[in-house]
Amino acid sequence: MNLQELMKDEVVKNISNMEEVTWINPKKIDYLKYEEARIPVSDDQIKDAEKRLERFASFIKKAFPETSEANGIIESPLEPIFSMQKELEEKYEVKIPGKLYLKMDSHLPVAGSIKARGGVYEVLKHAEDLAIEAGMLSYDDDYSILTEEKFKKFFSGYKVQVGSTGNLGLSIGITSAAVGFEVIVHMSADAKKWKKDMLRSKGVTVIEYEDDYGKAVEEGRKNSDADPLSYFVDDEKSINLFLGYTVAASRLKKQLDEKRIVIDEKNPLIVYIPCGVGGAPGGVAYGLKRIFKENIHCFFVEPTLSPCMILGMATGLHEKISVYDIGVKGITHADGLAVARPSGLVSEYMDPILSGIFTTKDSNLYDYLRILDKSENKRIEPSSCAAFKGPINLLKEKTSRKYIEEHIGANIENAHHIAWATGGRMVPKEDMERFLKTYL
Ligand SMILES: *Cc1c(COP(=O)(O)O)cnc(C)c1O
Repeated sequence: MNLQELMKDEVVKNISNMEEVTWINPKKIDYLKYEEARIPVSDDQIKDAEKRLERFASFIKKAFPETSEANGIIESPLEPIFSMQKELEEKYEVKIPGKLYLKMDSHLPVAGSIKARGGVYEVLKHAEDLAIEAGMLSYDDDYSILTEEKFKKFFSGYKVQVGSTGNLGLSIGITSAAVGFEVIVHMSADAKKWKKDMLRSKGVTVIEYEDDYGKAVEEGRKNSDADPLSYFVDDEKSINLFLGYTVAASRLKKQLDEKRIVIDEKNPLIVYIPCGVGGAPGGVAYGLKRIFKENIHCFFVEPTLSPCMILGMATGLHEKISVYDIGVKGITHADGLAVARPSGLVSEYMDPILSGIFTTKDSNLYDYLRILDKSENKRIEPSSCAAFKGPINLLKEKTSRKYIEEHIGANIENAHHIAWATGGRMVPKEDMERFLKTYL
């Protein structure tokens, strides 16, 4: 990699200066052509993940009583936020045509973040694989039997490990503890204290690093690989995590149907998802693309202080480049997005389908948090608020406006925008009060 050569690229130069950028993905291809090509994850694999979560619903319902009303299905509401939409238009002097919604994965049961999709799924799949192989379980059993003592005892002989900036650790830790696994969470320096405390209170071993997320993952992987009874949840490479996230798409489709919202050529869907290593937003975007095809436009949002996915995709170097390479430190108030190097798997999957990426300054996150609180009486964590940069910038920035003209045209007036709230429910009250008063 020749840094000097890379810096000649306008986008790379701007992100290395930690400026806010709007990047449209030049590698995105016409979706119908894409379907003819070899797709990396099949609809059958996604369906299989969906079925697995249905099999586990009776277990989830029993292990996590907060899910009983939804019969053990871990899902979040889709809420109109039209007052916020108006506030954003006024404050940022921009028109947001169509309707703005909030997908509240911030309030998902079990883990209070989008990680309740991928993380929970991967731990349950591992438990199922072990129990089936041991002849203790069959696919048509009522999985609530997994809460029985003999299963807890069986699973306690196995270990699960993960490296995390916080929320993935919470999701893996809470689920593994409920199943009965011994679990070790390797936390990076960005991880909030309350997240470590909560895990320890559930009997999870938390190992803290003074280093970044990449180091926590590396150490976790090493530790786990040395132990044949240990399973490593690999945020950078796991196809199972990815599959857990893809299931969000069919669930969202159902919610749109219930609200009688039709998505077609005349009524496009535009989603904005905060991105860290890429697994969560990538899985969700991939699933949505399979369903809504050319009528959906997926954008990610990253902090200017840790723009790893935009760097990996814009340079084509994927996981082979980190924000450190261009002099960005990767330290941001958006702790859930404090990742220096993108997932190679996800950034490659995103090449043909992602519409673009916006970056945002940390100071905006707190402003968006206050606007959401005031206009909608909803609270989510700062990382999550990155999503709002999308609808604000979409028509404000020349590059994204051009994208809209070319791909959506006048139908933008009928657009449904979804800001994907990725975390927040479990943030302690004192921390949230502090966030609301933070001005950078
Ligand atoms: C993890 C996380 C994300 C991004 O997910 P990645 O898989 O790391 O890209 C976004 N927001 C919050 C709050 C998160 O915890």
